[in-house]
Amino acid sequence: MRTDVLVIGGGAIGAAVAYFVRLLEPGTEVTVVERDPSYELASTPRASGGVRRLFSLPENIELSTFSIPFFDAFADTMAVDGVRPDIGLKKQGYLFIVPPSGRDTLQRSFETQQRMGCNVVWLEPDELKHRYPSMNVDDLAAAVFSPDDGWLDPHGLLAGFRNKVKSLGAEFLADEVVGLERRGNAVTAAELASGLRIKAGYVVNAAGAWAKDICTMVGERVPIEPLKRYEHYFESQDPIEPLPYLKDPERLAFRPEGRGYSGGVPTLDQPRGYALDVDQAYFENVVWPALAHRFPQFDRTICLSTLPGLYDQNDFDGTPIIGPGVGGLANFHLVAGFSGHGLMHAPGCGRAIAELILHGRFETIDLARFGWQRVVDGAPLPEAGII
Ligand SMILES: Cc1cc2nc3c(=O)[nH]c(=O)nc-3n(C[C@H](O)[C@H](O)[C@H](O)COP(=O)(O)OP(=O)(O)OC[C@H]3O[C@@H](n4cnc5c(N)ncnc54)[C@H](O)[C@@H]3O)c2cc1C
Repeated sequence: MRTDVLVIGGGAIGAAVAYFVRLLEPGTEVTVVERDPSYELASTPRASGGVRRLFSLPENIELSTFSIPFFDAFADTMAVDGVRPDIGLKKQGYLFIVPPSGRDTLQRSFETQQRMGCNVVWLEPDELKHRYPSMNVDDLAAAVFSPDDGWLDPHGLLAGFRNKVKSLGAEFLADEVVGLERRGNAVTAAELASGLRIKAGYVVNAAGAWAKDICTMVGERVPIEPLKRYEHYFESQDPIEPLPYLKDPERLAFRPEGRGYSGGVPTLDQPRGYALDVDQAYFENVVWPALAHRFPQFDRTICLSTLPGLYDQNDFDGTPIIGPGVGGLANFHLVAGFSGHGLMHAPGCGRAIAELILHGRFETIDLARFGWQRVVDGAPLPEAGII
């Protein structure tokens, strides 16, 4: 079998790449190989769904500025046979709150966001208290609120992308890539667990937390590691005013969900690996104290569920690696290492990879600084707006 573009991994990123390749050049053959069509372990359905413009790097702000309007129009754009997918986009805003030590960084990011035309609001602690009377602001120095951001349903997004991609003529193969053939500076074919061999013009590594294993198949090492993170569902005994998606200095990140809230406290201290076991004491020991400190209403909260998932963590600098070049390979595109924000940037990154493959250059957003070269150069490009 032969295909023009072989995409490894059919999560949000792989599906977005396939969508934009077919959209921009409908004659291009696209094959997405996804080993688990139920997405049991994939990161996409386990994401919290947050979408925000609150970043420090202009590229990340641009990716959000592209992707969020794309989500606004998703039901229309992705409709198939009149069926409009529902991604449950809730624009209840996104709020970063920081202690005195974080004020200068927040201010610099705020100025970048303003310069780039984002609708963002700077809040001093008294203004914060006025908006959110339940919030403890005693240890806070400032906040930035982004009213046009919010969160969405990752399942709806993935289902919508997949259906549309199939309707545009891309093929989804339920199979596993177990080997890649390399000749000179090109990857020429993939071997699948079923025994099928697919020759390809381009290969896109969109395997998320498993991206490094795909790179190992071409004899290359990348600094992307699986990092476990819990998403908890919890309720508050006493009512709290309507909240946006909130990120606080304790790395606490949560948002309203149904009758309660969904979120957690991500930590880089987890050992890297694919194990998805749950430390039942984590909520009690880490998340609950952070919640109760910020809102007294959470003093008697209980955790009703904990879902573990994997970040595709870029241990080099926390910023995704996008484009060709790993191991000098010109037709092997890596699009992974999102370190916790790949869902929201899937549309912009999908389009970027499609532009690189079809037109040989970034056209919509210049993501050159996100390329592999910075790893070769040992020049990290960290994002200050990650928690
Ligand atoms: C708890 C949690 C909360 C998060 N919250 C947010 C958030 O609020 N906002 C946000 O933007 N992002 C968030 N993220 C990050 C986001 O989920 C990821 O960045 C994003 O889903 C990555 O998408 P992906 O398609 O690269 O990966 P995945 O969805 O994991 O897809 C990769 C696919 O590759 C397949 N695959 C792997 N190896 C092979 C192989 N050899 N052959 C065939 N197929 C293979 C896998 O089966 C998998 O389905 C969160 C992540 C977690 C875990």
